Amino acid sequence: MPTDSSDPSDRETTPPADRKTTTAPDTDPRFEVPLRGIDVDPETRCAHWDAPVDVVALRFGCCETYYPCDACHDAATGHEAVPWPRERFDEPAVLCGVCGATLTARAYLDGTDACPACDARFNPGCRKHRDRYFEVKGSDGGEDKDDL
Ligand SMILES: [Zn+2]
Ligand SMILES: [Zn+2]
Ligand SMILES: [Zn+2]
Repeated sequence: MPTDSSDPSDRETTPPADRKTTTAPDTDPRFEVPLRGIDVDPETRCAHWDAPVDVVALRFGCCETYYPCDACHDAATGHEAVPWPRERFDEPAVLCGVCGATLTARAYLDGTDACPACDARFNPGCRKHRDRYFEVKGSDGGEDKDDL
């Protein structure tokens, strides 16, 4: 096909400027916590979860880095994801992508699917697969049943 020299080319294949992919060992400088992911936007939406409410990033026990989702973790690291350990539920493990506040795992899990700092809505559907991100044991905790 003829070359169109006036066209700056590949505009359609270039991701939007505010989308960034960060894999190990680099972390995303836009966030104050170590954070990686695929096509991460300034509020931590990613290539996999892109709805208005998908504005949290979760910290993983294996590498202590925040990711928008477990698919981002797997794509960025190549090692198996380890959920945030139960004995560390009082440490920061959740990032609000809207205001940059960090929540402890307990504050997030016991919360109301909104950021306590800025009131941003979090995706309530995340609760369905919270076992991917947090070490939840079926033996205790009667408030939620795990059908595994
Ligand atoms: Zn990891
Ligand atoms: Zn993702
Ligand atoms: Zn917030």
